[in-house]
Amino acid sequence: NASIVWFRDDLRVADNPALAAATAEGEVMALYVLDEVSPGIRPLGGAAKWWLHHALTDLRNELDNLGIPLILRRGPGEHAVAGLINELAADTIYWNRRYGGPERDIDAAVKSHALESGVHAESFQASLLHEPWTVTTGAGNPYQVFTPFWRTVSAHDFRAPLEAPTAGRGFTGMVPDSDILESWALLPVAPDWANGLRENWSPTAAAGQQLLEDFLEEAVGEYAEARDRPDRSGTSRLSPYLRWGQLSPFQVWAALADKRRGNELAGSPGPAVFASELGWREFCWHQLFHHPDLATSNLRPQFDNFPWRSSGQDPQAKEHLSAWQQGATGIPLVDAGQRELWHTGTMHNRVRMVTASFLIKNLGFDWRLGEQWFWDTLVDADAASNPANWQWVAGSGADAAPYFRIFNPLTQAKKFDPSGAYVHRWVPEFLLPHYPEPIVDLQESRRAALESYASSKS
Ligand code: FAD
Repeated sequence: NASIVWFRDDLRVADNPALAAATAEGEVMALYVLDEVSPGIRPLGGAAKWWLHHALTDLRNELDNLGIPLILRRGPGEHAVAGLINELAADTIYWNRRYGGPERDIDAAVKSHALESGVHAESFQASLLHEPWTVTTGAGNPYQVFTPFWRTVSAHDFRAPLEAPTAGRGFTGMVPDSDILESWALLPVAPDWANGLRENWSPTAAAGQQLLEDFLEEAVGEYAEARDRPDRSGTSRLSPYLRWGQLSPFQVWAALADKRRGNELAGSPGPAVFASELGWREFCWHQLFHHPDLATSNLRPQFDNFPWRSSGQDPQAKEHLSAWQQGATGIPLVDAGQRELWHTGTMHNRVRMVTASFLIKNLGFDWRLGEQWFWDTLVDADAASNPANWQWVAGSGADAAPYFRIFNPLTQAKKFDPSGAYVHRWVPEFLLPHYPEPIVDLQESRRAALESYASSKS
């Protein structure tokens, strides 16, 4: 009998322990389930759906080369998986673990259903360098602070990435029904807003691998300084590939370790700083594991009394929120970031921090409104990194910037985009008379934010 490999956030054939285990045994059938209906599952945003469509097309091609059919099903994960197990009379199912709360509930239900039916179900570690439940402080609690977390986690080396399986025994049985990918309508049609995404991204695993190689060859040495500069190409752009599992953190880690063994980077802080950014990704996922409601609840309950603005509060609130979303706030760096996001599906990390701070602190909005906008527009929209970083900026999160540290977007622009090249690229009209005045006064809104903060504490 064939075994089933259930693909989720691990859309790759190399370094895929579930696929490796299945192909070592015999015939394999691959499954992907688009589940937008199970309790607690957060439906994907628009940019994420665009990426998923292409990542599945790429995965299907890779699996075809191995003689493995990819079956697409839609609906509640638990039912879809149980259905395929029955249709195939499969005796084994493998998958790589997920760490969100509702996803873990589904996986547990599938596992117990499989065991009851005498089907072997086995899961593997593939998407995080460390399983969240294995990393605790000396007192046995999850880490709240990044530096000691990372010191503990990065003290050892990680396993070597697995090779992609070579074409083995092709699947010989009757291939069960599969949805047609196009019928899922993951791509925008009218209006087709994905032009900028197509121009900026090649959403295949091979393209991710190439970006990794190029980054290590050309940019990691300068990464420590260049990473904060939106006007330079100083970062890896790997986040969507990691988000969708087209690259694994083990692959990135091993390639970086290889590079560090050579002499040419000796003395450069770049590789260690880059490694610690992978550490932030881990730290965010560990937070989500311990707080499944990370996207909806403040990690620090003292923020529950904060008088955030909501979008329906007053007529001006709607206008302000939409000016922020559209990049029409009259603050050049904020507008540049929001336009970059809308056009390309990504935004430079430094600018993400600045636009998030502006929304929360100068405009006074609840961080969850910004988190939802990013969720819909980022190609790397990630169930852990997105809310964890929003909470970090808001001051309500783990190891967060204190609320009262409020970025000044003009000073940030001078420091990190000194020639104005980044702002020029996205807001070419910013020196012309029709460029709008700022929608809020930076000093006044800063003062109001600090007052709200003080009143929420009393
Ligand atoms: P690089 O600088 O090359 O970093 C390498 C990798 O490290 C990234 O690909 C990413 O996987 C990881 N990483 C880097 N910084 C962080 C961080 N602060 N937190 C977690 N992981 C990090 N990142 C996402 O992947 N998905 C999100 O939804 C997301 N939302 C964010 C929202 C806000 C408000 C902020 C401030 C940051 C957010 N980030 C998110 C983190 C960060 O901005 C992106 O990971 C980074 O910009 C991606 O570009 P890169 O791949 O070139 O990063």
